[in-house]
Amino acid sequence: MTDAMIELVDVNKWFGDFHVLKNINMTVGAGEKVVICGPSGSGKSTVVRSINRLEEHQKGTIRFNGAELTNDPKSVASIQGEIGMVFQQFNLFPHLSVLENLTLGPIKARGLERSKAVERARHYLERVRIPDQADKLPSQLSGGQQQRVAIARSLCMEPKVLLFDEPTSALDPEMISEVLDVMVELAQDGMTMVVVTHEMGFARKVADKMVFMDQGEIVEQSDPQAFFANPQTERCRTFLSQIL
Ligand code: ADP
Ligand code: MG
Repeated sequence: MTDAMIELVDVNKWFGDFHVLKNINMTVGAGEKVVICGPSGSGKSTVVRSINRLEEHQKGTIRFNGAELTNDPKSVASIQGEIGMVFQQFNLFPHLSVLENLTLGPIKARGLERSKAVERARHYLERVRIPDQADKLPSQLSGGQQQRVAIARSLCMEPKVLLFDEPTSALDPEMISEVLDVMVELAQDGMTMVVVTHEMGFARKVADKMVFMDQGEIVEQSDPQAFFANPQTERCRTFLSQIL
């Protein structure tokens, strides 16, 4: 047994006949920051979606704090409360104000009193530096602000780990840094994070571990210094030369 917070052991998944994840082995320790990169279609999203049970795997084991994750709906709901996820497309509720987006989960899923939920929401809006946007609708905010709302919404559930799936890929270039800055602060505060991103400046700054995927496999897994200075495979070298 290890003291990993998240542990994937020989995880395999198929979409029909298509073998999308092939023997994925990966651990994320408490407080650790793991950055996953790789070409489009390599299975990065499927890995993080499997960790928080948006996808089911067919073979192998995923453990969270030592307990094996199943597809039982009750356990899925409780896991999704503990494992937060931030998506490329924000996924905010368009008809709810920013504040309501943030209080909904804590009130409905956690039974938190409204006043407590509002207090918590304001705290996290402060933390992502948009305390003054609480009463707006998502559509009235810039993409960078919407993504920071999405991060605050995840934080309001007080998750033990946050998964990010290309959180800056849908943003105009000038908004990328305001989102990455918030993520760097979270990392420095000790949050356990799994981040799918091609933002290698961010990776160099915060990653404890780099994972490179290609065609459904983890091809390389190493500390950032070794990863960037000395990639072990041609596939990884080619990928890095294309994005750096
Ligand atoms: P990445 O995030 O690295 O771009 P994904 O995990 O999204 O890759 O997808 C990996 C592969 O699985 C791709 O070839 C994609 O087309 C395929 N795929 C993803 N989701 C589905 C699905 N729901 N049904 C069938 N194929 C899928
Ligand atoms: Mg993806």
